[in-house]
Amino acid sequence: MNALKEIILRLIRNDGPITLAQYMNLALQHPSHGYYATRDPLGRDFITAPEVSQIFGELIGLFLVQAWEDRGSPKAFHLVELGPGRGTLMADIFRAAKIRPAFVDAAHVTLVETSPALRDVQARNLRHVEIAWASTMEDIPADAPLFVVANEFFDALPIRQFEMVNGIWHERMVGAEGDTLHIRLMPNPIPFNGIPLEAPHGAVVEMSVAALGRASYLAERIVEQGGVALIVDYGHTATGFGDTFQAVKAHHYTDPFAEPGDADLTAHVDFERLAEFARAADALVHGPVPQGAFLEALGIHMRAENLKRATPREAADIDAAVARLTGPEQMGTLFKVMAISDGHFRELPGFLR
Ligand code: SAH
Repeated sequence: MNALKEIILRLIRNDGPITLAQYMNLALQHPSHGYYATRDPLGRDFITAPEVSQIFGELIGLFLVQAWEDRGSPKAFHLVELGPGRGTLMADIFRAAKIRPAFVDAAHVTLVETSPALRDVQARNLRHVEIAWASTMEDIPADAPLFVVANEFFDALPIRQFEMVNGIWHERMVGAEGDTLHIRLMPNPIPFNGIPLEAPHGAVVEMSVAALGRASYLAERIVEQGGVALIVDYGHTATGFGDTFQAVKAHHYTDPFAEPGDADLTAHVDFERLAEFARAADALVHGPVPQGAFLEALGIHMRAENLKRATPREAADIDAAVARLTGPEQMGTLFKVMAISDGHFRELPGFLR
């Protein structure tokens, strides 16, 4: 049994079951045993769009250059990435943005990253870029417009789950039996207003205080300072029923309770609720649109043709990567793209209104 599991078992034996959000928080963020604190999981456990192809980040770079120009090309702005992984997306953004040297000069980069292990990888991969790190968005100065990207960041934030039992919602908690951690229902009912009570017996709903809190704060900052945030993640356009809590290790689904801290834990992002909280902060919301449609609108096929002409021997790999990013059975429709902007942006590239 690993050390973190012992800690969690002791906690539950003493104090009773914990929420799924508390469990996720410990498993992902515990300073010495947490999943992200201790390792670089990219490539080993899962792969993300920027790691599939450089084209992903290059198109986002062009999106940002366009948005910056539409905002009047501010002389200074904060270019912020939430959960930057290996720094690959930011490196590709910079490469593409070189077509506008004034954009590169005006950008002050902040990476919002909690993992010391990943900060090291980011420093190495972004050697040529001046970077500041922050642990939370609150640390970013409010003195200039904000241009923010977050790819597969919101799915890593802790969720709670509720289950409908004979007309009454109960919270799904993490309890212990012997040395096994497992889901058990809180006996007391939960007063829950978000989802209609006609939910069928056994229905599960999820909510993430962490995600909604961050979405509303991000929107407030964007309205205050001006700017845009681009959020890319797997998830659903409309709030619904379903248990999307999952653990992935070495590219396979695994038991989320077997070895806490050794597998990536995520849940699908509820874009409808993120949008609701962003709008409540007076921000404009664009999309969500499927990732495939977004990348196609930004010209992924043309960019792929150019790359193939420059590197003909990699043509098959480039085609495979484009199919992976845009294909409906791959990342093209499960992944969504949503932007949050200040009122200045009636339109943004990639979003058909
Ligand atoms: N965006 C990257 C990596 C996605 S993995 C890519 O697309 O490849 C999730 C990232 O979010 C990791 O960098 C992880 O360390 C970071 N992260 C997870 N929870 C976080 C939190 N609460 N605050 C800041 N960063 C977090």
